[in-house]
Amino acid sequence: MLDAYELISQERIEDVHSDASLLVHKKSGARIALLSNDDKNKVFTIGFRTPPKNSTGVAHIIEHTVLCGSRKFPLKDPFVELAKGSLNTFLNAMTYPDKTVYPVASCNDTDFQNLMDVYLDAVFYPNIYRNEKIFRQEGWHYQMEKESDPLTYNGVVYNEMKGAFSSPEEVLNRAVFNHLFPDTPYGVESGGDPEEIPELTYEEFLDFHRKYYHPSNCYICLYGNLDMEEKLRWLDQAYLGAFDRIPVDSEIPFQKPFSGSCDVSMEYPVLEDEPTEDNTYLSESFVVGDYSDTLLNMSFSILEYVLLDAPGAPVKQALLDSGICKNVEGAYNDGTLQPFFSIIAQNANEKDKDRFLGIIRDTLEKLTVSGIPKKALYSGINYYEFRFREADYASFPKGLFYVLDMFDSWLYDWKKPFDYLKELQVFETLKQKAQTDYFEQLIRKWLLQNPHAAVVTLVPKRGLAAEQDARTARKLAEKKASLTPDQISEIIKETEELKAYQEAPDSPEAMDSLPVLKRSDISRSADLHLCTQECRVGETVFLKEKYHTNGIGYLRLMFNTEQVPDDLVPYLGLLRGVLGMIGTENYSYGELFHEINASTGG
Ligand SMILES: [Zn+2]
Repeated sequence: MLDAYELISQERIEDVHSDASLLVHKKSGARIALLSNDDKNKVFTIGFRTPPKNSTGVAHIIEHTVLCGSRKFPLKDPFVELAKGSLNTFLNAMTYPDKTVYPVASCNDTDFQNLMDVYLDAVFYPNIYRNEKIFRQEGWHYQMEKESDPLTYNGVVYNEMKGAFSSPEEVLNRAVFNHLFPDTPYGVESGGDPEEIPELTYEEFLDFHRKYYHPSNCYICLYGNLDMEEKLRWLDQAYLGAFDRIPVDSEIPFQKPFSGSCDVSMEYPVLEDEPTEDNTYLSESFVVGDYSDTLLNMSFSILEYVLLDAPGAPVKQALLDSGICKNVEGAYNDGTLQPFFSIIAQNANEKDKDRFLGIIRDTLEKLTVSGIPKKALYSGINYYEFRFREADYASFPKGLFYVLDMFDSWLYDWKKPFDYLKELQVFETLKQKAQTDYFEQLIRKWLLQNPHAAVVTLVPKRGLAAEQDARTARKLAEKKASLTPDQISEIIKETEELKAYQEAPDSPEAMDSLPVLKRSDISRSADLHLCTQECRVGETVFLKEKYHTNGIGYLRLMFNTEQVPDDLVPYLGLLRGVLGMIGTENYSYGELFHEINASTGG
């Protein structure tokens, strides 16, 4: 293709209607995956492997700070400004437990090019080295406006994570994750634990950027109807060509399997007037294989559906019938090196933990003997196949999801970016396997006989938040008492300076650096081409539309409601809502749910 790149592999992936290629930029070592197709909603993403070593939130703080101005775009907040004059269909950045990704999407060519430029300049040449205030603003800083004030912490990520740590569901998810993989980067909190964030120094923060934000550690994706050669040439000339390949140690290690399940009880804060009875979370989680097994991965999404999500699903139903909890949730967490499967009971009590575990075990054991109802399995398989084919992510571009799915294998095996885009064959295999005892064997192996598991109980405690705040306040009071008058003046001065920096408007030159779309960049024509055909079946009029739908037929039946009296009209919506969710002459409501999902998209 182009001299600056080595082509590693090339293939057609019919599942996502794309020509896929994997390349390496020879000089910098950057890996680039291309998905070329006719989708106008183009996506660009650059991601880095960013495994944290502690819970100071350094990966998360870097994500925030690189977006606070760069070499070519020295504004304080280029993305807020950019968003005002952009036609982007997606513009965001996300920190995960082992990676940080920067995706953008747009249907407009000029806009897309501008967004790529601003993002690449941000990640490779951020102003964080020139201006420590960016770190202090986004990460953490001491705050004190006058000498008589108490010393406090402030910072965008610091405050964000205080919020995140107050939701019990989040506390539970983090606890499960950290306890299943204690010896790996997954054992710490990539977003940052508010108690640890203030331990991060400016130098450590810069070191993290220096180490991981290099093309040799990056993963670039381009998706859509694009001139790929032109984009590759520009990437090389504008950014990648300036870097030489370096070794970057960012590999995510496997957790050594446990010899037996770990059992942890933790507390979470509730308000004084919130109940502590019937407010405990009971959970059991199992590590299931690794990222490389796409068949196993989909199998467990289907098992979650069959065992826990569907109405009347056996594990959920048994737990609800026992009366030990009011709600049951299943979760299959993929997108990490080693995925895991969780069963969570809400509104329960700690004393029922053994019953909770016993009911799960009994129900699963019975299922391995009696067999999972086939209808439920086919329904689960079809449910996921339909969603994969339809790729309808509401207002989000589907290319964004394809690109994010690629990281699920690519991050751990750089030669395999496309594994999770090839699901249709997986569904075909699973339909065959559903005829055997394949799923029952999976339950036996991964849920009943799997020692790499964690039982995490989350118990409510009144006053816990106040205790934590008091601990922080004590620590800060001690810190203040240890400061010399000069050090105190310094903090007061820094507080003022940060405020001044935040309040000062960007200079006109900085504002001018940002690309804005011109009217001529925007096409005057819309391009939705519908050609409706009208036909009749008996008395009924059918409007027929040919459209690219990936093998899915859409049928909408409309009933004339002219005869419904005015006072009953409000109930039509209610009727529409309950039909399909209640039993019928032929099926119970659980059976009907499977019938619907086994042959339609629901
Ligand atoms: Zn954030």
